[in-house]
Amino acid sequence: MSKQDYYEVLGVSKDVDAKALKSAYRKLALKYHPDQNPGDDAAEAKFKEVGEAYAILSDPEKRAAYDRFGHAAFEGGGAGPGGGNPFGQGDPGDIFENIFSQVFGGGFGGGGRRRNGPARGNDLRYDLEIALEDAFTGKDTEITLPTAVDCDTCDGSGAEPGTSPETCPTCQGAGRVRAQQGFFTMERTCARCSGRGKVIPHPCKTCGGAGQVREDRTLQVKIPAGVESGMRIRLAGEGEPGMNGGPKGDLYIFIDVSEHDIFERDGPNLYCPAPVPMVTAALGGEIEIPTIDGGRARVTVPEGAQTGRKLRLRGKGMPSLRGSGHGGDLFVEMIVETPRNLSARQKELLREFCECSGADCNPESEGFLGRVKKFWDGMTGEDGQRPN
Ligand SMILES: [Zn+2]
Ligand SMILES: [Zn+2]
Repeated sequence: MSKQDYYEVLGVSKDVDAKALKSAYRKLALKYHPDQNPGDDAAEAKFKEVGEAYAILSDPEKRAAYDRFGHAAFEGGGAGPGGGNPFGQGDPGDIFENIFSQVFGGGFGGGGRRRNGPARGNDLRYDLEIALEDAFTGKDTEITLPTAVDCDTCDGSGAEPGTSPETCPTCQGAGRVRAQQGFFTMERTCARCSGRGKVIPHPCKTCGGAGQVREDRTLQVKIPAGVESGMRIRLAGEGEPGMNGGPKGDLYIFIDVSEHDIFERDGPNLYCPAPVPMVTAALGGEIEIPTIDGGRARVTVPEGAQTGRKLRLRGKGMPSLRGSGHGGDLFVEMIVETPRNLSARQKELLREFCECSGADCNPESEGFLGRVKKFWDGMTGEDGQRPN
């Protein structure tokens, strides 16, 4: 299909200036506007044609490209710059209404149509703090959030009981008003009724005429086992209501797992610092530690265990979120405890112990002293003296 020349479409010469171009477009756009020609497909096609011609010729860059390459400038694979649809993304019908609104200052016919389309409701966020134990087992919980519901007093009408909303006297219920401006008609949303077509002479005292009140809504939420801080759970369709029949938004529950008194978490693993009496650490033995499932476990402390040593309890960490695979482990971090409040007899025994203990009783000290010696040797100055 060969396209008509844009200048011919608008009935102007090749050297037309911006003002004459606009004026030519205005005349044709008004003549073929869909509101003036309801159901006339030929007129609508013509309306789009003049819109397209004007969109190109009123843009100096596009006009220059068109003058050079003709329609090929805007066709896919063409010789001209860019190629493709000259209007980019979007519904062409809207684009031509937009061009029309720009030229006429908006408010005419189609201006309002786009805004009245269905719109999806907003998403909502709910922050939920849960205990580590609950993150371990998973949890069915209830959350309460405020929401708009129809007012009971007026059944959502907004009118005081015994009265009813009346047809808006300004727009006679149409929700839109037309006004003659120059040689064409402007149509606007009715300011008095905000487009609803009805006014409420006696507003309901409960809702102030809104027809809706805020009410707490309770939802059941399933928290999966293994959930971590920062994760979110999506409840589809539990967000704000849509406009004009649009779908509801979603509700996102942001999880924050609170700190635990005993366990520290790192992903699937748990860490539990556990004090070990000095004698147990020296001789070896057992200590009892709690587990996140509420149970207890006995841990064997090896002879000569040091502070900081970690003992692993396999499978005693957090479960994996998807339920498959193995969960994390529990690491018991030993803190060897120095005894206090010793009796005279205990002190005596310790002194006795000290006298008969050799250097290899203290592996940490041995290693440390070795590193210190190396450090000092490296610091020895030219005079052979160690720094004091
Ligand atoms: Zn009205
Ligand atoms: Zn009410």
